Amino acid sequence: MLHIGIDDTDSIHGGCTTWVATEVIKELSEFDLIGHPRLVRLNPNVPWKTRGNGAVSFTFGKGIGPKKKIGEFQGVEIFNFEKGIEMNYDTDSILSRLKNIITKHSHPDSQPGIVISDLFLPEGLYWQGVTGIVSKEILEDAIEGATVLGFRGSRGVYGAACSLAWSGNTNNGAISHTWELIGYREEKKWGTFREISSESVKEVSDKEGVFSCIDLDGKIAMVPNSPCPVLWGFRGTDDSTLIHNFNYLGPEKPIRWLLYKTNQATDDHLCSKEISEFIDGDSVWMEASVSSKPVVIEGGHRFFSVKNSSNESIECAAFEPTKSFRHIIDKLEVGDSVIICGSFKKETINLEKIKIESLAPRYRKPSNPLCKCGKRTHSSGKNSYYRCKDCGEKYERPEMIEVVSDLKLGWYEPPASSRRHLSTPVSLISKHE
Ligand SMILES: [Zn+2]
Repeated sequence: MLHIGIDDTDSIHGGCTTWVATEVIKELSEFDLIGHPRLVRLNPNVPWKTRGNGAVSFTFGKGIGPKKKIGEFQGVEIFNFEKGIEMNYDTDSILSRLKNIITKHSHPDSQPGIVISDLFLPEGLYWQGVTGIVSKEILEDAIEGATVLGFRGSRGVYGAACSLAWSGNTNNGAISHTWELIGYREEKKWGTFREISSESVKEVSDKEGVFSCIDLDGKIAMVPNSPCPVLWGFRGTDDSTLIHNFNYLGPEKPIRWLLYKTNQATDDHLCSKEISEFIDGDSVWMEASVSSKPVVIEGGHRFFSVKNSSNESIECAAFEPTKSFRHIIDKLEVGDSVIICGSFKKETINLEKIKIESLAPRYRKPSNPLCKCGKRTHSSGKNSYYRCKDCGEKYERPEMIEVVSDLKLGWYEPPASSRRHLSTPVSLISKHE
């Protein structure tokens, strides 16, 4: 079968790897798509990542059995087949056709890569690419026998190969894959205002399994702000829900749309290890208890520390873009049991989400006792008695009063617009626990 992976055609200045994906499908129209086009997000913490660190891959051949509509490009319907058989192809000619597309559509600041292979690549390569950093040795081992081409450096080859290595079927008791149906705009509209009403977004955001359309404060998260070809990205756990409902979005309509199978919302990037083994760029999952009360620093960022069962402690941060998530953090008290997920960098975990498992008792100080003379007493120092300034009478410290926190147990996360593509949204976690 003809397997193709492509990465890194965009840069922070524009471009879009998934638009290139639609161009590739258009170009290779003598083939059938076998399985789904895949949009694979890789380690969100690599220092050189493109905006979403996403790569695309496809399998082409001669389809057998029933076909299914998964897209439409300017009126031309795009189908895929669950199963297929080999079709002969000339690698050099495929490579040169892909090269033309990438040359035309990649941003000059990007370092695109193409990998063409007869076989799927080993899945271990994907796991390395999503949780860590792929070394040159690992890459070379995995792509032996494949045809690769890097532009302006070989960085994109890594992502292209990792995306080809994702099967989308590994299920560690969690979500193995989700779907994104991406709508695209005609070229003359790129960079102009996207006319997508919040009413139309609300219409689709309530559908079963749909996620990351809209923030709680009403901000639309499914429509990008960059000058890219994407009109919106419609995400969900059920592909048919997306296909049957995207038409509600508007008034601007896509001139192309395509359904991708993706590793978004799978939490595949998270790993569980000892604090002493954390390295910069890791995305970690850990059970811990809060060991210092959160403090606010300039800019509205929150910092607090947690410790694990071996009493090793580490600092956690919730930065300003996490918005109302920080108000949950503010309510934490020393001793609360939590699960934290986030990326580790410079000795700090930047929180992606948190589960509050149990709360330590909370107390508040009662008001100072009244003296029998009617005056309010004053504390004579920490852990000391209370004394009346007028008549000198002493009183025992009153008992602290236990208070009930309004903090509910469960998962909390930042709004969709500041969430990692790979992070499983809380709305989906509850179904898997
Ligand atoms: Zn008194």
